[in-house]
Amino acid sequence: MSQTSESRTYDPAAEVVELCRDLIRIDTSNYGDSAGPGERKAAEYAAGLLDEVGIESRLYEPEPGRTSLVRAGAGGDGRAPLLVHGHLDVVPAAAEDWQVDPFSGEIKDGFVWGRGAVDMKDFDAMLLSVVRARARTGAAPEREVVICLTADEEAGGHKGAEVIVNDHPDEIADCTEAIGEVGGFSATVRGRRVYLIEAAEKGMARMKLTARGRAGHGSMINSDNAVTRLSGAVARIGAHQWPVRLTPTMEVLLAAVADIAGTEATPENAEALIEEFGSAARMLGAVIRNTANPTQLGAGYKVNVIPTEATAHIDGRFLPGYEDEFFDTLRELAGDGIEIDFLSHQQPRETPYEGDPVAAMTRSLLAEDPDAVVAPYLMSGGPTRSTSTSWGCAPTASRRSACPPTSTSPRSSTASTSGCRWTRWSSAPGSSTGSSTESEPGRPACEKMHKRG
Ligand SMILES: [Zn+2]
Repeated sequence: MSQTSESRTYDPAAEVVELCRDLIRIDTSNYGDSAGPGERKAAEYAAGLLDEVGIESRLYEPEPGRTSLVRAGAGGDGRAPLLVHGHLDVVPAAAEDWQVDPFSGEIKDGFVWGRGAVDMKDFDAMLLSVVRARARTGAAPEREVVICLTADEEAGGHKGAEVIVNDHPDEIADCTEAIGEVGGFSATVRGRRVYLIEAAEKGMARMKLTARGRAGHGSMINSDNAVTRLSGAVARIGAHQWPVRLTPTMEVLLAAVADIAGTEATPENAEALIEEFGSAARMLGAVIRNTANPTQLGAGYKVNVIPTEATAHIDGRFLPGYEDEFFDTLRELAGDGIEIDFLSHQQPRETPYEGDPVAAMTRSLLAEDPDAVVAPYLMSGGPTRSTSTSWGCAPTASRRSACPPTSTSPRSSTASTSGCRWTRWSSAPGSSTGSSTESEPGRPACEKMHKRG
């Protein structure tokens, strides 16, 4: 546990590193079932930090150990409360894959290292340190703030956010906007740091393709071979070049990049502008078009037996506004005689990049990094937010962390990362946002946190 020292000055940076390290040392690995240690220790630790400065919070635990914390709003200037939320769990980490103990919170080369250092115990620590610093000096925020630190985000939030939303809706009922992940990391374009704020995310269609045919011996003529038919469908889908489609979010981002590059953004040069992001282009290139990747195949049991059925799984992601085009194209590519079933099907989200939270985020980022550019982006990994659909807030997410230009690979030098979503900055009351169903690669991130202060 960190040392707490009373301070007269409002200095949230003073303890943030130690809080982050403490949280990393509390293993909250989420294996997707009840096999992990749970989040109770971390929730109790956070509750203790708040209690120390006179802030009351409540813990909710749908099953032993799976604990979320809510600190209801208090006071404020009469505006609807702002929800600030993070998750306490992390995806598991195999120590042999790491150069440091993933649960040590080690400081190395000026960074805090460990599982959760970016996703997202860093944010939890920042939040707690800011709240504590303000409480100590009586610098209460003008606007009422509701805080949620949840369990189970990395496995869908069923034992965390969903419990708050479904069983304790009064805790967050009045909140019209929310702040959390994903976003806030920087990418580097021609030497300029571009901080990305999530304002939209793709829809998801996980599909099972099934071809049925006539069983038979492999030595015979068979014009109704399920494997052949399925293979054709999979090959067409996998090889398809999806056309560039720009949503309002990406139009704003590409205009910002074009400005840096001294050109104009058009659909024709969208791919060239995305390439300006270097290693982040692989992720951002996926959000100027729909995508559909074959990922699994299943058929047959013996080399000389033609099976009656062959199956394939396709991971499809579609842009806001382009769902019909996606499914029409997919159906056409699959061709006749292919059944398509959904393993999951979730809607995309997009919210206008505007409003007080966006302005405040931009102000804050530029105050710290005056030469930076702040722009929205569309998240490739989403949506995974069925739970916070009920929050009634729209997504835009950010927290600041300047990532080294070379650390955008999900498996950079020392630490693997997981993707995550569901905590966000929201700016449009009444539209929807949601929570993550599982971790996913593809998020530019460095699983380490700048040591500041
Ligand atoms: Zn996360």
